[in-house]
Amino acid sequence: MADVVIIGAGVTGLTLAFRLMEKGKRVLILEKNDWVGGQIRTFRENGFIFESGPNTGTVSCPEVAELFSALSPDCELEIADENANRRLIWKGDRFWDLPSGLIGGITTPLFAFSDKLRLLGEPFRGKGQNPDESVGEMAKRRLGKSFLNYAVDPFLGGIYAGDPMSLVTRYALPKLYNLEQNYGSFIRGSIIKARQPKTERDRLATKKIFSAVGGFGNLISALTKAAGKENIVLSATSVKIQPVENHWQVTYSTPSGEHAVKASKVITTAGAYALPQLLPFIDREEISKIANLRYAPIVQIAVGINDTHGRRFNAFGGLVPSCEKRKVLGILFPSACYRKRAPENGALFSFFIGGMKGSHLTRLSDDELHELTVEEFHTMLKFPKDIHPDLIRIFRHPYAIPQYEQSSGERFSTITRLQNRYPGLILAGNIRDGISMADRILQATKISSER
Ligand SMILES: Cc1cc2nc3c(=O)[nH]c(=O)nc-3n(C[C@H](O)[C@H](O)[C@H](O)COP(=O)(O)OP(=O)(O)OC[C@H]3O[C@@H](n4cnc5c(N)ncnc54)[C@H](O)[C@@H]3O)c2cc1C
Repeated sequence: MADVVIIGAGVTGLTLAFRLMEKGKRVLILEKNDWVGGQIRTFRENGFIFESGPNTGTVSCPEVAELFSALSPDCELEIADENANRRLIWKGDRFWDLPSGLIGGITTPLFAFSDKLRLLGEPFRGKGQNPDESVGEMAKRRLGKSFLNYAVDPFLGGIYAGDPMSLVTRYALPKLYNLEQNYGSFIRGSIIKARQPKTERDRLATKKIFSAVGGFGNLISALTKAAGKENIVLSATSVKIQPVENHWQVTYSTPSGEHAVKASKVITTAGAYALPQLLPFIDREEISKIANLRYAPIVQIAVGINDTHGRRFNAFGGLVPSCEKRKVLGILFPSACYRKRAPENGALFSFFIGGMKGSHLTRLSDDELHELTVEEFHTMLKFPKDIHPDLIRIFRHPYAIPQYEQSSGERFSTITRLQNRYPGLILAGNIRDGISMADRILQATKISSER
Protein backbone atom coordinates (compact mmCIF):
# COMPACT_ATOMS: atom_id res chain seq x y z
CA MET A 1 0.00 0.00 0.00
CA ALA A 2 1.06 3.56 -0.74
CA ASP A 3 -0.91 6.78 -0.81
CA VAL A 4 0.69 7.81 -4.07
CA VAL A 5 2.64 5.85 -6.70
CA ILE A 6 4.78 8.04 -8.96
CA ILE A 7 6.07 6.71 -12.27
CA GLY A 8 9.49 8.15 -13.09
CA ALA A 9 12.36 9.43 -10.92
CA GLY A 10 13.27 12.50 -12.96
CA VAL A 11 13.22 15.97 -11.42
CA THR A 12 9.40 16.07 -11.66
CA GLY A 13 8.87 12.72 -9.94
CA LEU A 14 11.46 13.33 -7.23
CA THR A 15 10.23 16.86 -6.44
CA LEU A 16 6.68 15.52 -6.25
CA ALA A 17 7.74 12.73 -3.91
CA PHE A 18 9.65 15.11 -1.64
CA ARG A 19 6.82 17.64 -1.46
CA LEU A 20 4.16 14.94 -0.91
CA MET A 21 6.18 13.30 1.87
CA GLU A 22 6.50 16.64 3.61
CA LYS A 23 2.68 16.52 3.75
CA GLY A 24 2.80 13.11 5.40
CA LYS A 25 1.96 10.98 2.33
CA ARG A 26 3.35 7.48 1.82
CA VAL A 27 4.97 7.59 -1.61
CA LEU A 28 6.51 4.95 -3.87
CA ILE A 29 8.44 5.87 -7.03
CA LEU A 30 8.85 3.32 -9.82
CA GLU A 31 11.73 4.04 -12.21
CA LYS A 32 12.62 1.89 -15.20
CA ASN A 33 16.30 2.91 -15.28
CA ASP A 34 18.86 1.70 -12.77
CA TRP A 35 19.62 5.33 -11.88
CA VAL A 36 17.63 8.34 -10.66
CA GLY A 37 17.41 11.73 -12.38
CA GLY A 38 15.85 10.89 -15.75
CA GLN A 39 17.27 13.39 -18.22
CA ILE A 40 19.54 14.85 -15.54
CA ARG A 41 22.94 13.26 -14.97
CA THR A 42 26.19 14.88 -13.92
CA PHE A 43 29.60 13.32 -14.55
CA ARG A 44 32.98 14.08 -13.02
CA GLU A 45 36.22 13.25 -14.82
CA ASN A 46 39.80 14.63 -14.74
CA GLY A 47 38.80 17.97 -13.23
CA PHE A 48 35.72 18.46 -15.45
CA ILE A 49 32.13 18.43 -14.21
CA PHE A 50 29.72 17.99 -17.10
CA GLU A 51 26.04 17.31 -17.67
CA SER A 52 24.50 14.80 -20.05
CA GLY A 53 21.16 16.70 -19.98
CA PRO A 54 20.23 20.21 -18.87
CA ASN A 55 23.10 22.60 -18.10
CA THR A 56 21.06 25.48 -16.78
CA GLY A 57 17.62 26.60 -15.71
CA THR A 58 16.00 29.99 -15.13
CA VAL A 59 14.68 31.02 -11.72
CA SER A 60 11.38 31.94 -13.33
CA CYS A 61 9.16 31.08 -10.36
CA PRO A 62 9.53 31.23 -6.56
CA GLU A 63 9.16 27.43 -6.34
CA VAL A 64 12.71 26.98 -7.68
CA ALA A 65 14.30 29.14 -4.98
CA GLU A 66 12.05 27.56 -2.33
CA LEU A 67 13.03 24.03 -3.37
CA PHE A 68 16.73 24.81 -3.06
CA SER A 69 16.16 26.47 0.33
CA ALA A 70 14.31 23.37 1.52
CA LEU A 71 17.15 21.10 0.35
CA SER A 72 20.00 23.17 1.80
CA PRO A 73 22.68 22.25 2.89
CA ASP A 74 22.49 18.97 0.90
CA CYS A 75 22.31 20.99 -2.28
CA GLU A 76 22.91 24.69 -2.96
CA LEU A 77 21.58 26.91 -5.73
CA GLU A 78 24.33 28.32 -7.96
CA ILE A 79 23.42 31.51 -9.81
CA ALA A 80 25.42 31.86 -13.01
CA ASP A 81 28.26 34.34 -13.34
CA GLU A 82 27.63 37.69 -15.10
CA ASN A 83 29.12 36.04 -18.22
CA ALA A 84 25.76 34.30 -18.66
CA ASN A 85 24.21 37.63 -19.69
CA ARG A 86 26.32 37.62 -22.85
CA ARG A 87 24.71 35.56 -25.62
CA LEU A 88 26.30 34.89 -28.98
CA ILE A 89 24.74 34.17 -32.37
CA TRP A 90 26.57 32.64 -35.32
CA LYS A 91 26.50 34.55 -38.62
CA GLY A 92 28.82 34.00 -41.56
CA ASP A 93 32.08 32.76 -40.13
CA ARG A 94 31.94 33.76 -36.46
CA PHE A 95 29.86 34.35 -33.33
CA TRP A 96 28.50 37.89 -32.75
CA ASP A 97 27.12 39.34 -29.54
CA LEU A 98 23.32 39.36 -29.33
CA PRO A 99 22.77 43.07 -28.57
CA SER A 100 21.18 43.98 -25.26
CA GLY A 101 21.28 47.80 -25.50
CA LEU A 102 20.33 50.50 -27.98
CA ILE A 103 23.81 51.14 -29.46
CA GLY A 104 24.46 47.41 -29.92
CA GLY A 105 21.00 47.05 -31.41
CA ILE A 106 21.74 49.73 -34.01
CA THR A 107 25.23 48.54 -34.93
CA THR A 108 24.79 44.73 -34.86
CA PRO A 109 25.24 42.99 -38.22
CA LEU A 110 22.76 40.28 -37.13
CA PHE A 111 19.59 42.09 -38.18
CA ALA A 112 18.58 43.94 -41.36
CA PHE A 113 18.48 47.75 -41.17
CA SER A 114 14.85 47.73 -42.35
CA ASP A 115 13.88 45.37 -39.50
CA LYS A 116 15.70 47.53 -36.93
CA LEU A 117 13.56 50.46 -38.08
CA ARG A 118 10.48 48.23 -38.13
CA LEU A 119 11.11 47.30 -34.48
CA LEU A 120 10.29 50.89 -33.51
CA GLY A 121 6.75 50.25 -34.74
CA GLU A 122 6.29 46.99 -32.76
CA PRO A 123 4.24 48.59 -29.95
CA PHE A 124 1.76 49.92 -32.53
CA ARG A 125 1.28 46.75 -34.60
CA GLY A 126 -2.10 44.96 -34.36
CA LYS A 127 -2.68 41.73 -32.42
CA GLY A 128 -2.55 38.35 -34.14
CA GLN A 129 -5.94 36.81 -34.92
CA ASN A 130 -4.94 33.15 -35.32
CA PRO A 131 -4.72 31.43 -31.89
CA ASP A 132 -2.69 28.61 -33.44
CA GLU A 133 -0.15 30.92 -35.03
CA SER A 134 3.38 29.50 -34.96
CA VAL A 135 6.18 31.32 -33.16
CA GLY A 136 7.89 31.81 -36.52
CA GLU A 137 4.86 33.41 -38.15
CA MET A 138 4.30 35.62 -35.13
CA ALA A 139 7.94 36.75 -35.05
CA LYS A 140 7.92 37.55 -38.78
CA ARG A 141 4.67 39.51 -38.43
CA ARG A 142 5.73 41.56 -35.39
CA LEU A 143 9.51 41.82 -35.75
CA GLY A 144 10.59 41.03 -39.32
CA LYS A 145 12.37 38.19 -41.11
CA SER A 146 15.91 38.88 -39.89
CA PHE A 147 14.74 38.83 -36.26
CA LEU A 148 13.02 35.53 -36.98
CA ASN A 149 16.19 34.11 -38.52
CA TYR A 150 18.84 35.51 -36.17
CA ALA A 151 17.03 35.78 -32.81
CA VAL A 152 13.86 33.68 -32.62
CA ASP A 153 15.05 30.68 -34.63
CA PRO A 154 18.30 30.19 -32.64
CA PHE A 155 16.47 30.97 -29.37
CA LEU A 156 13.95 28.20 -30.09
CA GLY A 157 16.80 25.97 -31.21
CA GLY A 158 18.31 26.53 -27.75
CA ILE A 159 15.13 25.83 -25.80
CA TYR A 160 13.13 23.36 -27.88
CA ALA A 161 15.67 22.22 -30.51
CA GLY A 162 12.56 22.95 -32.54
CA ASP A 163 11.25 24.46 -35.74
CA PRO A 164 9.76 27.96 -35.20
CA MET A 165 7.22 27.30 -37.97
CA SER A 166 5.82 24.25 -36.12
CA LEU A 167 5.87 25.40 -32.49
CA VAL A 168 2.60 27.14 -31.63
CA THR A 169 3.14 30.31 -29.58
CA ARG A 170 0.28 29.90 -27.10
CA TYR A 171 1.55 26.42 -26.12
CA ALA A 172 5.33 26.77 -26.58
CA LEU A 173 5.80 30.33 -25.30
CA PRO A 174 2.59 31.16 -23.40
CA LYS A 175 4.12 34.18 -21.65
CA LEU A 176 5.04 35.75 -24.99
CA TYR A 177 1.61 34.94 -26.40
CA ASN A 178 -0.06 36.59 -23.41
CA LEU A 179 2.09 39.72 -23.77
CA GLU A 180 0.61 40.26 -27.23
CA GLN A 181 -2.92 39.22 -26.28
CA ASN A 182 -3.09 41.23 -23.04
CA TYR A 183 -0.99 44.30 -23.91
CA GLY A 184 -0.97 44.34 -27.72
CA SER A 185 2.84 44.36 -27.91
CA PHE A 186 5.90 42.49 -26.59
CA ILE A 187 7.73 45.73 -25.81
CA ARG A 188 4.79 47.52 -24.19
CA GLY A 189 3.73 44.38 -22.32
CA SER A 190 7.25 43.77 -20.94
CA ILE A 191 7.50 47.36 -19.70
CA ILE A 192 4.08 47.23 -18.01
CA LYS A 193 4.82 43.85 -16.42
CA ALA A 194 8.21 45.01 -15.11
CA ARG A 195 6.46 47.95 -13.39
CA GLN A 196 3.78 45.87 -11.71
CA PRO A 197 4.14 45.68 -7.90
CA LYS A 198 5.73 42.48 -6.64
CA THR A 199 5.34 40.70 -3.33
CA GLU A 200 8.40 39.50 -1.46
CA ARG A 201 7.67 35.97 -2.70
CA ASP A 202 7.31 37.17 -6.35
CA ARG A 203 10.78 38.66 -6.03
CA LEU A 204 12.23 35.16 -5.52
CA ALA A 205 11.59 34.69 -9.25
CA THR A 206 14.71 36.60 -10.25
CA LYS A 207 14.80 35.29 -13.86
CA LYS A 208 18.48 34.52 -13.21
CA ILE A 209 20.22 31.54 -14.78
CA PHE A 210 20.97 28.74 -12.31
CA SER A 211 22.43 25.33 -11.72
CA ALA A 212 23.22 23.47 -8.52
CA VAL A 213 26.68 23.83 -7.00
CA GLY A 214 28.64 20.92 -8.50
CA GLY A 215 26.00 20.24 -11.18
CA PHE A 216 22.35 19.25 -11.36
CA GLY A 217 23.27 15.74 -10.23
CA ASN A 218 23.58 17.21 -6.74
CA LEU A 219 19.97 18.43 -6.91
CA ILE A 220 18.94 14.88 -7.82
CA SER A 221 21.02 13.38 -4.97
CA ALA A 222 19.51 15.80 -2.45
CA LEU A 223 15.97 15.09 -3.69
CA THR A 224 16.65 11.34 -3.55
CA LYS A 225 17.85 11.65 0.03
CA ALA A 226 14.84 13.79 0.95
CA ALA A 227 12.38 11.41 -0.72
CA GLY A 228 14.10 8.41 0.89
CA LYS A 229 16.02 5.85 -1.19
CA GLU A 230 13.85 3.11 0.29
CA ASN A 231 10.82 4.68 -1.43
CA ILE A 232 12.36 4.44 -4.90
CA VAL A 233 12.33 1.20 -6.89
CA LEU A 234 14.91 1.24 -9.70
CA SER A 235 14.91 -1.13 -12.71
CA ALA A 236 11.12 -1.36 -12.47
CA THR A 237 9.99 -2.66 -15.85
CA SER A 238 6.62 -3.62 -17.41
CA VAL A 239 4.88 -1.11 -15.15
CA LYS A 240 1.09 -1.27 -15.62
CA ILE A 241 -1.55 0.86 -13.95
CA GLN A 242 -5.13 -0.44 -13.54
CA PRO A 243 -8.19 0.99 -11.77
CA VAL A 244 -9.49 -1.64 -9.32
CA GLU A 245 -12.73 -0.87 -7.42
CA ASN A 246 -12.01 2.35 -5.51
CA HIS A 247 -8.23 2.35 -5.76
CA TRP A 248 -5.36 1.90 -8.22
CA GLN A 249 -3.27 -1.20 -8.67
CA VAL A 250 0.21 -0.90 -10.14
CA THR A 251 2.08 -4.02 -11.20
CA TYR A 252 5.75 -4.14 -12.18
CA SER A 253 8.77 -6.41 -12.51
CA THR A 254 12.22 -6.08 -11.02
CA PRO A 255 15.17 -8.49 -11.19
CA SER A 256 13.80 -9.96 -7.92
CA GLY A 257 10.35 -10.80 -9.39
CA GLU A 258 6.82 -9.54 -10.00
CA HIS A 259 5.24 -6.99 -7.66
CA ALA A 260 1.91 -5.24 -7.09
CA VAL A 261 1.09 -2.15 -5.09
CA LYS A 262 -2.23 -0.48 -4.24
CA ALA A 263 -2.58 3.30 -4.06
CA SER A 264 -5.24 5.95 -3.96
CA LYS A 265 -3.36 8.14 -6.45
CA VAL A 266 -1.04 7.39 -9.37
CA ILE A 267 1.00 10.14 -11.00
CA THR A 268 2.87 9.50 -14.25
CA THR A 269 5.84 11.69 -15.18
CA ALA A 270 7.07 9.50 -18.05
CA GLY A 271 7.20 10.67 -21.66
CA ALA A 272 4.09 10.53 -23.87
CA TYR A 273 5.47 7.51 -25.79
CA ALA A 274 5.42 5.42 -22.56
CA LEU A 275 1.76 6.04 -21.72
CA PRO A 276 0.00 3.41 -23.94
CA GLN A 277 1.92 0.62 -22.13
CA LEU A 278 1.54 2.21 -18.69
CA LEU A 279 -2.23 2.72 -19.07
CA PRO A 280 -3.53 -0.35 -20.93
CA PHE A 281 -7.15 0.29 -19.81
CA ILE A 282 -7.40 3.47 -21.88
CA ASP A 283 -8.74 3.15 -25.40
CA ARG A 284 -5.91 3.19 -27.98
CA GLU A 285 -7.39 5.95 -30.05
CA GLU A 286 -7.85 8.18 -27.02
CA ILE A 287 -4.34 7.67 -25.63
CA SER A 288 -2.87 8.24 -29.10
CA LYS A 289 -3.98 11.90 -28.76
CA ILE A 290 -1.30 12.20 -26.07
CA ALA A 291 1.18 9.64 -27.40
CA ASN A 292 1.39 11.40 -30.78
CA LEU A 293 3.54 14.12 -29.15
CA ARG A 294 6.69 14.61 -31.23
CA TYR A 295 10.12 14.86 -29.55
CA ALA A 296 13.27 16.55 -30.81
CA PRO A 297 16.21 14.15 -30.67
CA ILE A 298 19.45 15.68 -29.40
CA VAL A 299 23.02 14.59 -29.01
CA GLN A 300 24.88 16.55 -26.37
CA ILE A 301 28.66 16.38 -26.43
CA ALA A 302 30.77 17.50 -23.48
CA VAL A 303 34.07 18.91 -24.72
CA GLY A 304 36.84 19.78 -22.29
CA ILE A 305 40.23 21.38 -22.69
CA ASN A 306 42.80 21.48 -19.89
CA ASP A 307 44.43 24.70 -21.07
CA THR A 308 42.84 27.25 -23.40
CA HIS A 309 46.22 29.01 -23.79
CA GLY A 310 44.67 32.29 -22.74
CA ARG A 311 41.57 32.09 -24.94
CA ARG A 312 38.57 33.37 -23.07
CA PHE A 313 34.96 32.34 -23.52
CA ASN A 314 33.15 34.85 -21.34
CA ALA A 315 29.59 34.13 -22.40
CA PHE A 316 26.64 31.84 -21.80
CA GLY A 317 27.38 30.29 -25.18
CA GLY A 318 26.55 30.64 -28.83
CA LEU A 319 23.47 29.60 -30.78
CA VAL A 320 23.34 28.82 -34.48
CA PRO A 321 20.47 30.02 -36.71
CA SER A 322 19.22 27.19 -38.93
CA CYS A 323 19.64 29.36 -42.05
CA GLU A 324 23.40 29.24 -41.42
CA LYS A 325 23.24 25.51 -42.24
CA ARG A 326 25.86 24.31 -39.76
CA LYS A 327 25.85 20.89 -38.13
CA VAL A 328 25.75 22.26 -34.58
CA LEU A 329 22.64 23.77 -32.96
CA GLY A 330 24.65 25.63 -30.37
CA ILE A 331 27.61 25.50 -27.99
CA LEU A 332 27.26 26.37 -24.30
CA PHE A 333 30.21 27.54 -22.17
CA PRO A 334 29.35 26.05 -18.72
CA SER A 335 32.76 26.77 -17.20
CA ALA A 336 32.25 30.49 -17.91
CA CYS A 337 29.00 30.42 -15.94
CA TYR A 338 29.56 28.00 -13.06
CA ARG A 339 32.45 27.34 -10.71
CA LYS A 340 34.84 24.39 -10.97
CA ARG A 341 33.41 22.90 -14.18
CA ALA A 342 36.92 22.72 -15.72
CA PRO A 343 40.56 22.73 -14.53
CA GLU A 344 41.85 26.20 -13.62
CA ASN A 345 43.24 27.19 -17.04
CA GLY A 346 40.82 25.08 -19.00
CA ALA A 347 37.28 25.31 -20.29
CA LEU A 348 34.23 23.10 -20.68
CA PHE A 349 31.88 23.32 -23.66
CA SER A 350 28.59 21.60 -24.41
CA PHE A 351 27.91 20.98 -28.10
CA PHE A 352 24.28 20.36 -29.13
CA ILE A 353 23.56 18.48 -32.35
CA GLY A 354 20.29 17.42 -33.99
CA GLY A 355 16.90 18.82 -33.09
CA MET A 356 13.83 18.76 -35.33
CA LYS A 357 15.68 20.19 -38.32
CA GLY A 358 18.87 18.16 -37.90
CA SER A 359 17.53 14.84 -36.63
CA HIS A 360 19.56 12.90 -39.24
CA LEU A 361 22.74 14.07 -37.49
CA THR A 362 21.73 12.28 -34.27
CA ARG A 363 22.05 9.00 -36.18
CA LEU A 364 25.78 9.55 -36.87
CA SER A 365 28.11 7.01 -35.28
CA ASP A 366 30.22 7.98 -32.27
CA ASP A 367 33.30 8.20 -34.54
CA GLU A 368 31.50 10.55 -36.94
CA LEU A 369 30.22 12.72 -34.06
CA HIS A 370 33.73 12.82 -32.63
CA GLU A 371 35.10 14.01 -35.97
CA LEU A 372 32.34 16.61 -36.38
CA THR A 373 32.98 17.95 -32.87
CA VAL A 374 36.72 18.32 -33.42
CA GLU A 375 36.07 20.09 -36.73
CA GLU A 376 33.68 22.61 -35.11
CA PHE A 377 36.02 23.01 -32.13
CA HIS A 378 38.50 24.50 -34.58
CA THR A 379 36.06 26.28 -36.93
CA MET A 380 33.54 27.69 -34.47
CA LEU A 381 35.58 28.08 -31.28
CA LYS A 382 38.62 29.07 -33.35
CA PHE A 383 41.15 26.80 -31.61
CA PRO A 384 44.25 26.37 -33.79
CA LYS A 385 44.75 22.94 -35.39
CA ASP A 386 47.54 21.96 -32.96
CA ILE A 387 45.27 22.31 -29.89
CA HIS A 388 43.03 19.30 -29.30
CA PRO A 389 40.17 18.67 -26.87
CA ASP A 390 41.27 16.66 -23.81
CA LEU A 391 37.78 15.27 -23.21
CA ILE A 392 34.93 14.38 -25.56
CA ARG A 393 31.89 12.54 -24.15
CA ILE A 394 28.79 11.84 -26.23
CA PHE A 395 25.24 11.64 -24.78
CA ARG A 396 22.30 10.64 -26.94
CA HIS A 397 18.72 11.71 -26.16
CA PRO A 398 16.31 10.24 -28.73
CA TYR A 399 13.34 11.80 -26.87
CA ALA A 400 14.98 15.00 -25.63
CA ILE A 401 12.44 17.81 -25.90
CA PRO A 402 8.67 17.53 -26.48
CA GLN A 403 7.44 19.85 -29.21
CA TYR A 404 4.45 21.96 -28.22
CA GLU A 405 2.94 22.01 -31.69
CA GLN A 406 -0.65 22.32 -32.92
CA SER A 407 -1.52 18.86 -31.54
CA SER A 408 -0.96 20.23 -28.01
CA GLY A 409 -4.52 21.56 -27.64
CA GLU A 410 -5.98 18.10 -28.16
CA ARG A 411 -3.31 16.55 -25.90
CA PHE A 412 -4.09 18.92 -23.04
CA SER A 413 -7.87 18.41 -23.35
CA THR A 414 -7.41 14.61 -23.47
CA ILE A 415 -5.30 14.74 -20.30
CA THR A 416 -7.98 16.81 -18.52
CA ARG A 417 -10.77 14.50 -19.71
CA LEU A 418 -8.94 11.35 -18.55
CA GLN A 419 -8.08 12.86 -15.17
CA ASN A 420 -11.75 13.81 -14.67
CA ARG A 421 -12.96 10.38 -15.75
CA TYR A 422 -10.46 8.52 -13.54
CA PRO A 423 -10.15 10.34 -10.20
CA GLY A 424 -6.74 9.75 -8.63
CA LEU A 425 -4.94 9.44 -11.99
CA ILE A 426 -2.66 12.36 -12.82
CA LEU A 427 -0.74 12.62 -16.08
CA ALA A 428 2.17 14.94 -15.38
CA GLY A 429 5.74 15.48 -16.64
CA ASN A 430 6.80 17.64 -19.56
CA ILE A 431 3.94 16.47 -21.79
CA ARG A 432 2.17 19.55 -20.36
CA ASP A 433 2.92 22.72 -18.36
CA GLY A 434 6.27 23.40 -20.01
CA ILE A 435 9.59 21.75 -20.63
CA SER A 436 12.07 23.73 -18.53
CA MET A 437 13.60 22.80 -15.19
CA ALA A 438 11.58 25.58 -13.52
CA ASP A 439 8.37 24.37 -15.21
CA ARG A 440 9.04 20.87 -13.87
CA ILE A 441 9.62 22.06 -10.30
CA LEU A 442 6.56 24.34 -10.48
CA GLN A 443 4.30 21.56 -11.79
CA ALA A 444 5.46 19.07 -9.16
CA THR A 445 4.98 21.59 -6.36
CA LYS A 446 1.49 22.53 -7.57
CA ILE A 447 0.35 18.91 -7.92
CA SER A 448 1.66 18.10 -4.45
CA SER A 449 -0.64 20.81 -3.06
CA GLU A 450 -3.76 19.52 -4.83
CA ARG A 451 -6.21 17.51 -2.75
C1 LIG B 1 19.90 17.33 -23.66
C2 LIG B 1 18.89 18.13 -22.87
C3 LIG B 1 19.17 19.43 -22.51
C4 LIG B 1 18.24 20.17 -21.79
N1 LIG B 1 18.58 21.43 -21.42
C5 LIG B 1 17.75 22.13 -20.63
C6 LIG B 1 18.16 23.40 -20.13
O1 LIG B 1 19.27 23.88 -20.39
N2 LIG B 1 17.30 24.07 -19.32
C7 LIG B 1 16.08 23.57 -18.97
O2 LIG B 1 15.34 24.22 -18.23
N3 LIG B 1 15.68 22.35 -19.42
C8 LIG B 1 16.48 21.63 -20.23
N4 LIG B 1 16.11 20.39 -20.68
C9 LIG B 1 14.76 19.90 -20.33
C10 LIG B 1 14.70 19.30 -18.93
O3 LIG B 1 15.90 18.65 -18.65
C11 LIG B 1 13.56 18.29 -18.83
O4 LIG B 1 12.32 18.87 -19.21
C12 LIG B 1 13.41 17.71 -17.44
O5 LIG B 1 14.65 17.21 -16.95
C13 LIG B 1 12.38 16.60 -17.49
O6 LIG B 1 12.21 16.07 -16.22
P1 LIG B 1 11.05 15.03 -15.93
O7 LIG B 1 11.25 14.49 -14.59
O8 LIG B 1 9.73 15.66 -16.24
O9 LIG B 1 11.24 13.90 -17.05
P2 LIG B 1 12.41 12.84 -17.17
O10 LIG B 1 13.68 13.39 -16.72
O11 LIG B 1 12.31 12.33 -18.58
O12 LIG B 1 11.97 11.71 -16.16
C14 LIG B 1 10.98 10.77 -16.46
C15 LIG B 1 11.42 9.45 -15.85
O13 LIG B 1 10.42 8.47 -16.12
C16 LIG B 1 11.06 7.25 -16.36
N5 LIG B 1 10.17 6.38 -17.12
C17 LIG B 1 9.77 6.51 -18.41
N6 LIG B 1 8.95 5.51 -18.75
C18 LIG B 1 8.81 4.71 -17.67
C19 LIG B 1 8.09 3.52 -17.40
N7 LIG B 1 7.33 2.95 -18.35
N8 LIG B 1 8.19 2.96 -16.18
C20 LIG B 1 8.96 3.55 -15.21
N9 LIG B 1 9.67 4.68 -15.40
C21 LIG B 1 9.58 5.27 -16.61
C22 LIG B 1 12.29 7.64 -17.17
O14 LIG B 1 13.28 6.63 -17.16
C23 LIG B 1 12.71 8.91 -16.45
O15 LIG B 1 13.64 8.65 -15.43
C24 LIG B 1 17.00 19.60 -21.41
C25 LIG B 1 16.72 18.29 -21.77
C26 LIG B 1 17.64 17.54 -22.50
C27 LIG B 1 17.34 16.12 -22.86
